[in-house]
Amino acid sequence: MKPKTIVRCVSCDGYGWVDDDFSGASEDCDWCAGVGYVYRDEKGQDLRIPRGDFSRVAAELERLEIERLRELGYSGEAKKPWKQSIRKDTNLGRDPYAPEED
Ligand SMILES: [Zn+2]
Repeated sequence: MKPKTIVRCVSCDGYGWVDDDFSGASEDCDWCAGVGYVYRDEKGQDLRIPRGDFSRVAAELERLEIERLRELGYSGEAKKPWKQSIRKDTNLGRDPYAPEED
C-alpha cells in the first residue's frame, strides 16, 4: 500500500477544534476528529486518520505541526536555563530576575 498524503485539516486549519458560533464553546473538529490533520487520497478526498495509525504517522504529524507553528510565528525558543529543572541549584539555575535572597 502506498503511503497516503497527510494534509492540514481544511475545517479547523490544523487546530483540531472549532468554535461553535452559537454556543461559543470549542468542540473537537468533526472533519479530522480532533487530530488537526487528515489523509488525502489520490482522488483528492480527505479521510480521517484512524486512531490506530497515530503511532505510524506521529513523526509526520509532528513535522507538520512544527511547520504550522512556524507559520504562526512561533520560533520554538528554548527554555531559559533557570527554567530547566536540570540546572536547579547551579549558578545557571538562578533566575537573574528573581528578588535577592537574604
Ligand atoms: Zn479538523
